[in-house]
Amino acid sequence: MGFAIIGLGGYALNQMMPRFALAQRSHIAAIVSGNPEKLKQVGDAYGVPPDARYTYDSFDAIADDKRVEAVYIVLPSGLHAAWTEKAFAAGKHVLCEKPMALSSEECARMIAAAERAKRKLMIAYRSYFEPHNRLAMALMAQKALGPLRLLRADHSYRMGPVTPAQNWRLDRALAGGGPLEDLGIYGLQAALYLTQEVPELITASTYQPEGDARFTQIFAHVGAQLRFPSGAVAQLSTSYDAAGANTVSARGATGVLTMDPATSYSGQKMRLEQAGQAGRDLTPGDPDVQFAGQLDHFADAIRDGGQIKTPGQMGLRDVRLMEAIYASARTGRYVRLNPDGTMLD
Ligand code: NAD
Repeated sequence: MGFAIIGLGGYALNQMMPRFALAQRSHIAAIVSGNPEKLKQVGDAYGVPPDARYTYDSFDAIADDKRVEAVYIVLPSGLHAAWTEKAFAAGKHVLCEKPMALSSEECARMIAAAERAKRKLMIAYRSYFEPHNRLAMALMAQKALGPLRLLRADHSYRMGPVTPAQNWRLDRALAGGGPLEDLGIYGLQAALYLTQEVPELITASTYQPEGDARFTQIFAHVGAQLRFPSGAVAQLSTSYDAAGANTVSARGATGVLTMDPATSYSGQKMRLEQAGQAGRDLTPGDPDVQFAGQLDHFADAIRDGGQIKTPGQMGLRDVRLMEAIYASARTGRYVRLNPDGTMLD
């Protein structure tokens, strides 16, 4: 299946585009960029014909390009909704990077655009295709830890001395509240796919330091506590101003699963401890398969008509939960939720 890649930035160039070579059913058919030099350089490197190199201005002509069946959106998060809508208007399927968008209203528009166009929408949640995270989901389904009680997820790194004008990740219009949409979303996702539940109660707090040029528009850290209908409680923390962390742990009544790093590009490690048994390090496979795996899953769903594991509805649910986290932090109150992640009050 031919993909047009829109947004030739760090993640597209360094991670996803090289991984198309490992995909069975997906290839790069076109590229879209505002930078003519990049179009030439990247187009030549990937053998993209000159007439399949689009600019943001010429993008609409992609509608008539039969080589392109899907558009992969790897733009700053605040641009996901508008370009998803344009791609559906051009009759293409859409694979959209996380976070799906910056508001639930944008997500709802994206889902409606997919329905109107009768095309598929998938959110690029790569952990669903990563062997350690997949094994963790299977272990939870088998109740390998007994009933799940406590979860913890920490995702952070220390942002260098940049300003919103220099890096879109610090710009509220393009990044929302900041680290939660970018990094914390991995922990939020993990809490949901490990419990297989949607929280019913959220409390949270945010911190935006004064006098730090990095955090004039976004938060430096976000912390949240989620309670699930089963009674399990998850603690999430995320920061752009703390030493690197990428850890998830789940503690049941009779065992513990620790993943560190949990949701990185590579190097995942996981350890299972069960009552009465020696702890075991688990090595279910190479994390690298997550990148091509998500591309081929999308191609499979389109070609063979299967269910998408990470559909637009999941992206919408997660954006709703992030809105609830911010609402709790803003008001200083806990937020009660419906099963679809919308706020009860
Ligand atoms: P980046 O800054 O490296 O690249 C962004 C690209 O968008 C650049 O090519 C830039 O030129 C282009 N762009 C177009 N309009 C722009 C504008 N108005 N402002 C700024 N840039 C503009 O960012 P990235 O790290 O590649 O992230 C892109 C998307 O991919 C984000 O949504 C991010 O959340 C997602 N991402 C996902 C993962 C993952 O593991 N799934 C990892 C990194 C990034």
